[in-house]
Amino acid sequence: MATNRSRESIAGTMEFSQQLSTTPRSDEERAAVLANPGFGNHFTDHTAVIDWNHTSDGGRWSNARIEAYGPISLDPAASVLHYGQEIFEGLKAYRHADGTVWTFRPEANAERFNASARRLALPELPVEAFVTSLKELVAADRAWVPSGDGEALYLRPFMIATEAFLGVRPAREVSYRLIASPAGNYFGGELKPVSIWLATKYARAGRGGTGEAKCGGNYAASLAAQLEAEENGCQQVLFLDPFNDNAVEELGGMNVFFVMADGTVVTPALNGNILHGITRASVIQLLKDRGLKVEERKFTLDEWRRAAENGQLREVFACGTAAVITPIGLLKTTEGDIASPALPQESLTLSIREQLLGIQTGAVADQHGWLTRLA
Ligand SMILES: *Cc1c(COP(=O)(O)O)cnc(C)c1O
Repeated sequence: MATNRSRESIAGTMEFSQQLSTTPRSDEERAAVLANPGFGNHFTDHTAVIDWNHTSDGGRWSNARIEAYGPISLDPAASVLHYGQEIFEGLKAYRHADGTVWTFRPEANAERFNASARRLALPELPVEAFVTSLKELVAADRAWVPSGDGEALYLRPFMIATEAFLGVRPAREVSYRLIASPAGNYFGGELKPVSIWLATKYARAGRGGTGEAKCGGNYAASLAAQLEAEENGCQQVLFLDPFNDNAVEELGGMNVFFVMADGTVVTPALNGNILHGITRASVIQLLKDRGLKVEERKFTLDEWRRAAENGQLREVFACGTAAVITPIGLLKTTEGDIASPALPQESLTLSIREQLLGIQTGAVADQHGWLTRLA
């Protein structure tokens, strides 16, 4: 199988050659960026790259390297530009109080990356190569890991089909790449409940589609709905499954949770359309550790509306790596809004957020062995 071949052939090429930038930014330039990083605006001095070529015996990863950050030279016929054969991941590196740098469950990201690769007919990257690329890049760009409250270095691994070929088939030349971006608070400023817009005209996923894969195409498909959300004064868009009783699926890039008045927590079950969020899985574990009942099941728009009306609904939140955990204050729809109750003083939303961030930043004990040291 192709998978085993690529696993073997990377073994001898795990050494990342270092072609360090001859023009890294000065301490002053870096300090100016880190003073106000925002999200996704600035990038570090380096990038990690590994190339893949189809071979008669499956395929081979080679030429793992750290090089200067800069534009990519691509043939205009590269199939990623035409047919969107692309996947990505997102995780964060956190600077702990003692200066060391850690990341959260990187093997889970590596495994999800491979699940996405299978769906998009891209080659799998050995988990070890994925994790090593994170370590190598963070070692080269360690000074770019911010240390402020709620800040981190956002890591963006991705894979693109680089072969110049307009026929429709899986590309035979592919690149894995990793870039890094210092990040502040995703929604900016203090944590206040967001308003979200219910997409009815557009879906992001359908049965048998790519909803479960983390691929650029899903995001491209969500943008028209995201624009609609913004026109209606909302920050994010919520997708339903209109062919399954309007079951709640997820936001454009975050999973959702509902805290009920009896203490039960409900989140949509993974049904093939929904991204397997690592934050989602971690939140479920932390809730269960607290002895709370967590139901992964179908949760329809009707049930949401009823629960809000009869006082059964206590809190609603969204979760994902970029924004961590964000309370949802309002769902706006063309058929009337659903308001969440005012966030109580002692909300589960904020307490789980603090616990999770605490584990990630080293302030709270990591009882599940979720952290991996990068530098
Ligand atoms: C990445 C992503 C999430 C969140 O996943 P995490 O692993 O928690 O960051 C949720 N939904 C979609 C569509 C995503 O792309």
